[in-house]
Amino acid sequence: MVVPYSELRIAANRRKESLLTTLGEFVRHPSIAFVDKRGVEACAVEVERKLGRLGFRVSRFCEKGSPLILAERDVGARKTLMFYHHYDVQPPGQLDLWKSSPWKLEVKEDRVHGRGTSDDKGPLAASLESVEMLEEMLGKLPVNVKFVVDGEEEAGPMNLPRFISKNPGFMKADGCIWEAASAMPNSPSEVICGMKGDVYFELRIGGAPRFPLTDVHSSEAGVAPSAAWRLIWALNSLKDEKERILIDGFLKQIRKPDEDDLAAIRDHESELGSNLKKKYGVENLVLGRDGFELTSALYLDPRISICGLTSGHQGPEDMTIVPSSASAKVDIRIVPDLTVEKTEQLLRAHLKKKGFDDVQIISKGGYDPGKTPIGHPFVRLIHKASSEVVSPAKANIIPMTSASGPVSYFTPHVPICMTFSYDEAVGTNSHAPNENAPLESIECEIAFTALVAQRLAEMK
Ligand SMILES: [Zn+2]
Repeated sequence: MVVPYSELRIAANRRKESLLTTLGEFVRHPSIAFVDKRGVEACAVEVERKLGRLGFRVSRFCEKGSPLILAERDVGARKTLMFYHHYDVQPPGQLDLWKSSPWKLEVKEDRVHGRGTSDDKGPLAASLESVEMLEEMLGKLPVNVKFVVDGEEEAGPMNLPRFISKNPGFMKADGCIWEAASAMPNSPSEVICGMKGDVYFELRIGGAPRFPLTDVHSSEAGVAPSAAWRLIWALNSLKDEKERILIDGFLKQIRKPDEDDLAAIRDHESELGSNLKKKYGVENLVLGRDGFELTSALYLDPRISICGLTSGHQGPEDMTIVPSSASAKVDIRIVPDLTVEKTEQLLRAHLKKKGFDDVQIISKGGYDPGKTPIGHPFVRLIHKASSEVVSPAKANIIPMTSASGPVSYFTPHVPICMTFSYDEAVGTNSHAPNENAPLESIECEIAFTALVAQRLAEMK
């Protein structure tokens, strides 16, 4: 017998105190990977302690950097549910912009405040509470449970891929909840089955013998080689005004979306277009995109961005110069079957072929894309459960988010799925100052996760 969502929701509400204690213990440690070693270690110990108290067999894997925490509870059930979370957080940024300390959990107007409350210490605490609640309610967990708690998600994991390649057996599970599983009555939700990849590059140009040793008087323009123009022409060869990516051979690597993906994009119902216009404060989105075009641009297609451009003089006074150097930061959001490695090869070959062998390409690495097919029984189970809970609002299926993360390490081993509701994602300031989360949404996460675990136990 599956305990219905309405009952789980009430039970989750009763756990408020326990939830706040757990979350408070996580938030107080400044666990910024590669920045605050002590904060990372203290938070890792806190997570291990909590898992240990819940009866998990806990271990850690750390070749270097922040420890990856692994935990397992085998209750002899038929099915195994895995969770992927991370206890590392983004740096706080400018501290004077915070209304309360990023490292102290505060409850104000039914929202919890502090770094990590929305990404991803809040959802981690919710999953732990959910497991504890289910065991108390049912007397026994309906599924075996595994936790993979990353300490390097925000910085680019090093331990995670190494652990997985050495321990593929640990990755066996019937489904993995990725960072969060939530659904709120009457609020449209998103059921996400994958993430685009992302590769970050710095393009640099300048220096002898191709360019002047220093900036030159602009009366000599047309004679002195300009690094600024060269960089602009190189960038211009990557994408046209219709948003088509022009990197040689790039589009050939893209696998056509399957029928399920296209149907999900066609069925997508939301105020996405008008919400984004409001958020940006613009009249029109790129190329007037709306409906299917907008949704597929966000959730299916590769994209290329200039994240920063630097050259010459930009001070308040005017200077007439030909810049001797220029640089740009570029990121490319990639989709299957492109990989970080392949994208870098293609970019290098393209610039060389176009005659831009004076452009130095520094690759900062990134994530490969990864997705679970929409038709997978685990995704269907979550979509069905989500549709029931949010009804009459809609549960949209999204083939891949436009954001990136280490999903591609998981998807060859275990189906992944992440779900949240639009309403709870508003105003959480994740990655920004004053990060917070509605308490109601964390309670909904506890309840929905418990529902998914029970349904998974019954899956054929
Ligand atoms: Zn996160």
